[in-house]
Amino acid sequence: MIRIDHARVFDGEGVLDDVSVFVDAGRVAAVTPTATAAADPAAARADEVIDGTGHTLLPGLIDGHTHVMGTLHNLRLALTFGVTTEVDLFSFPADLTGWLCDTAAHRDDLADLRSAGTVICAPGGHPAATMPFLPTLDGPAAAGDQVRLRQKEGAHVIKLMLDDGCHHGADLPTLDPVTVAAVADAARSAGLPTVAHVADVATVRTALEAGVDAVTHVPPTAPLPQEVVYRAAAEGRFFIPTLAMMEMSCGAPGGRALAADTRIAGRLPADALAALTGGTEGLCVTVPSPELDFGNALESTRRLHASGVRLVAGSDANNAPGRACPVVHGVALHRELELLVAAGLSPVEALRAATATPARLFGLSDRGRIAPGLRADLVLVEGDATIDITATRAVRRVWRRGVPFDREAARAAWRSGAQVPTAGPGSAVGSDSARVATTVGGAELTAVGSTALAVAAARAAESGRPDRLFQDPVAVQVAVAAGGALAAWSGPRGELLRQAMGDYFALRTRYFDDWLREAVAAGCRQVVVLAAGLDARVFRLDWPAPVRVFEIDRADVLTFKDKIITGRVPLFGSERIPVTCDLRDDWPGALREHGLDPGLPTAWLVEGIMVYLTEEEGDGLLARLGALSAPASRIAVEYGSRAMFHTGNTRTALDATTGTDTLHTLAALWRNESTADPLARLAAHGWTATTRELADLAAEHGRPTPAAFDPRQPGTARITLLSGHRHTSPDPS
Ligand code: SAM
Repeated sequence: MIRIDHARVFDGEGVLDDVSVFVDAGRVAAVTPTATAAADPAAARADEVIDGTGHTLLPGLIDGHTHVMGTLHNLRLALTFGVTTEVDLFSFPADLTGWLCDTAAHRDDLADLRSAGTVICAPGGHPAATMPFLPTLDGPAAAGDQVRLRQKEGAHVIKLMLDDGCHHGADLPTLDPVTVAAVADAARSAGLPTVAHVADVATVRTALEAGVDAVTHVPPTAPLPQEVVYRAAAEGRFFIPTLAMMEMSCGAPGGRALAADTRIAGRLPADALAALTGGTEGLCVTVPSPELDFGNALESTRRLHASGVRLVAGSDANNAPGRACPVVHGVALHRELELLVAAGLSPVEALRAATATPARLFGLSDRGRIAPGLRADLVLVEGDATIDITATRAVRRVWRRGVPFDREAARAAWRSGAQVPTAGPGSAVGSDSARVATTVGGAELTAVGSTALAVAAARAAESGRPDRLFQDPVAVQVAVAAGGALAAWSGPRGELLRQAMGDYFALRTRYFDDWLREAVAAGCRQVVVLAAGLDARVFRLDWPAPVRVFEIDRADVLTFKDKIITGRVPLFGSERIPVTCDLRDDWPGALREHGLDPGLPTAWLVEGIMVYLTEEEGDGLLARLGALSAPASRIAVEYGSRAMFHTGNTRTALDATTGTDTLHTLAALWRNESTADPLARLAAHGWTATTRELADLAAEHGRPTPAAFDPRQPGTARITLLSGHRHTSPDPS
């Protein structure tokens, strides 16, 4: 039992003075006048009595608009700054979102999480235009199904996208009014609140007309007309203006000043502080225009409040390690509160917008207020936040479900984390591969390393298909983190490559998936993925038995991968052992050092790498892995040759593009001439193998044969997928 005395208490609705708050078993047990508290029988049972003199006790803050960006790290950051619940308004894919919400529900060192999961958007619209693997809605007929699917996936709220990308220099299709209304109706029947993301006055009108519960953002180009505001008030709608985001997006300087506030800066991890001071990623407006004026957003908010529209404080925070968005989890909500006050709310009204009001909108009936029986999500701040709203930044104590959060431990962990060195480019293999080609999410990838992005882009696209051959959470995370950086592979610039390769990467992936399951079922319990890149098999395959998966690649790729998976992609049952080594160095030694047992059968996966090695290097690789292969070991290899770039199709594509284009980059990297028959090559190294015809594989999965490798088309290339088992004892070399 905890007892907090003498604090000024904002209970979610109003101010209580001279009360004591009792917390027991994760709940608020009582709120009683301090004068009589000592006489309360509960007082004697208090294990800790906190003197709140000079402080304000608040319900845990609720941020009504965030993006958790797939990482629990953000929920820890939020809790540090007194945000005990985040409402995420777009997270993908659904199983990752579910895992984040479940984890957050049980861990008191994280803010609790509610999520809309996948947004509902138009085909080709925002954000599907840059994330083509997202499901879309093409009319009212399927609205009910889509809402039910979201509900089944665990969504707590339905988010609709009404944005033609005008603030990003685009003109995209958007959900039409009838479809928006159908979604709103279906959500109402399902008992889920709806939030519409708007971009301009017209989309605000559409959202209100359709009957959504809440509108998020306020147009930066013009204040909302008074009749729109009156309508929102009369119909009891909520608005989540996200002023902290609008301010940053319009280039207004105020938000960055948080970095100079000692109550905040000292508690921020280095990456978040850097994002706050200089980051520009993840803003909701990216094309500067003379019409953009944060004053418009502020004026709309003023009008909404003055007319009685219920406002919810939401920051739209979407930073993450490696994602330099200046709207930072936890701290941005404090700026939002300050901006709400600037828009005319009293500090008490602003506090209500971050406590009782979002609880009402999102159906969080167990929190948002300090009252007996409710969750003891509490924040104690120094000063009187009911008079000076910036006092919310002076957080002194945070409890989640009555459990104190150790802010010092979080700060110490971030300090030590900040010392982890960031990777430079990997060791040189050749001038092309050593060059830094892409910077994604703060990590630098060499040209050859960035080919892993091509495979990830293809796997992310496959993961979004209803008839998908697999679901790859790492690839989807890469696509979300990399955004525009993937355009070379998945956007219009990658179109020629995509047309030529068709479903090749998906088919190849599935072929090796099936082979690996079989290899493990047949007794291989250690798997080595050579040049693993962003391979996700250790995370996603339903292995027949627990396995140890060794992933070898160069430093640039494994460091990037680490950024993507840490805290985002859960690992079930099996063990992942990353081994940073160049395949021309002593990787067998590195494998032994990391625990590979050459006395046990191993499954070797050689996917997407032979083409980047000369024939001699490829043979050397087979000889070395052969020496580590116990009887019953297995192997699967993909062979292709430079000949691929001499075919008619590819030549045409190369001629149509410039030397810096994706296909040219690939052509420059491919080195294997593949003069010998791959089966004979494997046989010479002690493997009995068979090949799988790509056309047969495609037919088995109901897919067209990829154009670049279709034997029925003239001038196409050969690509060979093989798998086999060991027919000799380990090669003593
Ligand atoms: N096998 C993975 C897959 O299919 O997802 C990745 C394939 S990606 C096309 C090629 C990978 O080979 C990159 O991750 C790159 O870093 C790696 N690679 C290329 N040359 C390498 C070398 N000499 N040593 C280690 N890795 C190398």
